[in-house]
Amino acid sequence: MLAILHPDTDENSEEYRRTWDYLSQLPGIELNVNTIQGQQQKLTEIYLLGDTLAVDLDQVAALPAVERAIRISEEYRVLGRHADQKRQTGFSYNGIDFSQDTLNVLPGLCAVDNPENVEIMMRAVHDAGHNLTRMGAYKPRTNPYSFQGYGSECLPYVFELAGKYDIKVIAMEVMHESHIEEIDTALENLGRPTGVLLQVGTRNSQNFSLLKEIGRQSTYPVLVKRGFGITLNDSLNAAEYLASEGNSNVIFCLRGMRTDFGAPHRNMVDFGHVPIVKRLTRMPVCIDPSHSVGSRAYAPDGITDIAHVTAQGIVAGANVVLADFHPNPEEALVDGAQALRIDELNPFLADINLAWQTYQKRCEIWEHAP
Ligand code: PEP
Ligand code: MN
Repeated sequence: MLAILHPDTDENSEEYRRTWDYLSQLPGIELNVNTIQGQQQKLTEIYLLGDTLAVDLDQVAALPAVERAIRISEEYRVLGRHADQKRQTGFSYNGIDFSQDTLNVLPGLCAVDNPENVEIMMRAVHDAGHNLTRMGAYKPRTNPYSFQGYGSECLPYVFELAGKYDIKVIAMEVMHESHIEEIDTALENLGRPTGVLLQVGTRNSQNFSLLKEIGRQSTYPVLVKRGFGITLNDSLNAAEYLASEGNSNVIFCLRGMRTDFGAPHRNMVDFGHVPIVKRLTRMPVCIDPSHSVGSRAYAPDGITDIAHVTAQGIVAGANVVLADFHPNPEEALVDGAQALRIDELNPFLADINLAWQTYQKRCEIWEHAP
């Protein structure tokens, strides 16, 4: 069971004390407090764990600090919706709101290669009026002899340039807890010129010790990619691992499923699952059209395949887009075949904007349906 407190409830208030006293004397029930800091207000949730069948829902809902109480299933205990459409979604980080009602685009380099390309990329993002990007420093490669990323070596110039171009959040994959420390140290040394969204790649979506380690820190939010060869339920549980350790600032990213039937796309595009993830959980949903499609090919209508699937995901309500760009894709050290060129950034963003407007109009059309 979950007791959602009135927004901004003070833990020292009489209402909170009386609520806590009642809940803590319930036999066989353990309490777990989760706070979510939004841009406007702080939300506190108290989870009642154990055998809650004997607990009276109405009595919990009537406690002075409680706004409402809901019964939750075992599945996605923290991040799930539990049939409650009113529960808050998302979080805000470094001045940026991420929720199931917002749209954020992170165009950037799959892998950092040199300061010149990082600067061209960040300047383009800034000039387009955006302030989010992706920059891979630690690369999970299938082949052990492939380029593994410049790691901590490139972090100082990446973060410095982010500060120069007013980039607020950089999505960056980590594969080991030491990578978080390296990122944290580099940011701290530079006076935190930007923020980092830690990315868990598809290959690590069942690396439970990594998920737990990332979940134990609350400095950085996390973007978890769907595992390419496991069920949706298993992937959503990867996200829940983070939340179970305390970090519920989590974005879930669809990136296509590996299947031989996926061809000619690199992976079978799964963006039709956007509304399903939004219904099952309160996470903002990201789409990664680059790793789904795997090529920068143009369709006969003059639109890239990547832009086509992006529009499909946005029209279905996606909240975040992670996309590979490169100033010179032929020279990219990783995934050059799927990187869009810098001069494709503006049409890509305009197309996304149109799709987002369409999605909002679709919501209006359906607003009064039975
Ligand atoms: C990436 O985003 O660079 C990446 C490696 O993605 P995925 O984990 O989806 O393969
Ligand atoms: Mn990649």
